[in-house]
Amino acid sequence: MKRSQQEDLPYALRDRRKVGPNDEFRFACTPDVPCFTRCCADINILLTPLDVLRLARSLGISTTDFLEEYTLIPITKDLHLPVAVLKMGDDPEKHCRFLGDQGCTVYDARPWSCRMYPLGMALPPARAGQEPEPIYFLFEDQFCEGHQQSQTWTPTSWRQNQGVNEREPLEEGFRKIVSHPWFIGGRQLDPRRIEMFHMACYDLDRFRKFVFDSSFLERFEVEKERVEQLRVDDEALLRFAYRWLRFALFSEPTIPVRKGVPRARRDS
Ligand code: SF4
Ligand code: SF4
Repeated sequence: MKRSQQEDLPYALRDRRKVGPNDEFRFACTPDVPCFTRCCADINILLTPLDVLRLARSLGISTTDFLEEYTLIPITKDLHLPVAVLKMGDDPEKHCRFLGDQGCTVYDARPWSCRMYPLGMALPPARAGQEPEPIYFLFEDQFCEGHQQSQTWTPTSWRQNQGVNEREPLEEGFRKIVSHPWFIGGRQLDPRRIEMFHMACYDLDRFRKFVFDSSFLERFEVEKERVEQLRVDDEALLRFAYRWLRFALFSEPTIPVRKGVPRARRDS
């Protein structure tokens, strides 16, 4: 039976009001609103790899320690890949652990979802050879008084204002993996590839060790200057991780294999 467009949406976005990229909505969020920080509790914040990287660096800890201390990996039927979620505090209201007296203590590194709120975004299911256009939704939570303010935005201007657009090249690489046409028809990755996905996307410090402390560079051709960049530049390493994942998960020719490397050693 053909699925409806509604059924294809993530559960949290069904029944929300859709807005086009240039449709106006009223919203303002400042420390003066009576509900200030009320939204920073008991919420599901899906983290992107860039969120994990920037939060870990802003806290001065490794991505491995960040994932261990601050995230959960829930298994849901909506997600075919293990996407990390921010762990809330264990106080009765389940406040975000980054919430301080004056608001968000990691504001410059706040996650993509926190920047986008009150907007949600979904991508329609991937179709081979087509770039899906994002669909925007408005969260109109009762407790949020931001919607009663007079300032107006569109999804396009809100994204720009919240610094979402400057992150886009790195966020897009992740979205292209999780919404890859390979998954059409409900195909599932095996546990070994799921672990590759988790390491390369989220645990960048472990991925760096994998690149430099294993036989990786004997198996793949990586230009000398690029190798030196990958040692020190986190965001270049994340871009490279996406390239490698497209090779390892979907067999795309995104990284050249050195001559003479047997097939069995290429993606391990
Ligand atoms: S509830 Fe709405 S207006 Fe209040 S702080 Fe959160 S986002 Fe801002
Ligand atoms: S990361 Fe910051 S903005 Fe996001 S929920 Fe936590 S305190 Fe609020």
